Formats: sequence, C-alpha cells, structure tokens
Amino acid sequence: MLETEHVPWERRSLASVLPAVRPRKLAKVPFVELADGRLQGVVSSGSDIDRVYVSSIAAGSHGFNCSTNNNRPCGGLRGAPCKHLHALLDEAVLQYGVARVSRYLRVDVTDGAQTGADLLRRLDGHHEPTPAAVVFSRFLRHLSYLELPAADGPLPELHWFPATGAVR
Ligand SMILES: [Zn+2]
Repeated sequence: MLETEHVPWERRSLASVLPAVRPRKLAKVPFVELADGRLQGVVSSGSDIDRVYVSSIAAGSHGFNCSTNNNRPCGGLRGAPCKHLHALLDEAVLQYGVARVSRYLRVDVTDGAQTGADLLRRLDGHHEPTPAAVVFSRFLRHLSYLELPAADGPLPELHWFPATGAVR
C-alpha cells in the first residue's frame, strides 16, 4: 500500500503523519480556530491539491498572514488579504457566527456586517509574518481525531495514528 504510493510528502520528515492529509479528502477550510490572539486555520489550495495554506488574522492589530505549511509566502498575498484569508473568514463566520468572530478580532460591526467578506473589508491591518508550524501541527492533531466519512474502504493511513476511543 504505502510502498506503492510515492507522493512527495511521504518522503518528508512528517511522513508518519502526513499520508492522512490526503488533499482530496480536505474540505476547503478543514481547520479554523480562535486561539493565541488570532483567527487562524488551514485552507486547502484551490489549484494544487498537494498544498495547504496556513492563514491567520491577529485580534486587535488585524495583522494578517498566509503561507504554506512550510512557511513559503502565499503568492496571492500582495499587500492585501488573499483568497485563503477570505475563505478563512467565511468559514469562521459559519462556525462561530459573525458576532463572536468580530468580537474576538475587535472589528466594529455596529453598521451591520453579516459575512466574512463584510468583516474583511473592515480590517485595517497589514501583512505580518507569523510561523505556520504551531497552527499546522494543531491541524494534524485535529485530523487524527476526525472520522473520515467520505472514505469508502480501509484506510491504511490511519494505522499511523494511535487508537482514539473517543471517536464514536
Ligand atoms: Zn493565501
């Protein structure tokens, strides 16, 4: 099984974990959290199924960042938030509601912001590089607790993970 699949990620240092992060199984924004004073999460690439981005927006300063999990800067980030940050905000609003996200980020929504795009327009931060590693490793831990309902067969990759009795 694994020995017949030679995707590049399997040869990297996180090889024992990454095979479960098969991008074709990823939602557009598979991970989002309000933590460490930031809205942050993982956004899958629209064009390259082997790539994910770690995107974040700081509470208060609204400094934003987007890079690959290997800290390569996002090409869409040219002084303004990229599409991954748009997707991150949209997903955050879905999961937490616009009131909670705006309160956390300290965005003024008294004039009636409803969507992630509304929030994005009200941000006044600039690009502020932040390391992707912490968020990405939390994402991997998060994945290890997920069921994969789309799977239609045995998943040898899951044998890499310790047994998780908590999964229903
Ligand atoms: Zn980006």
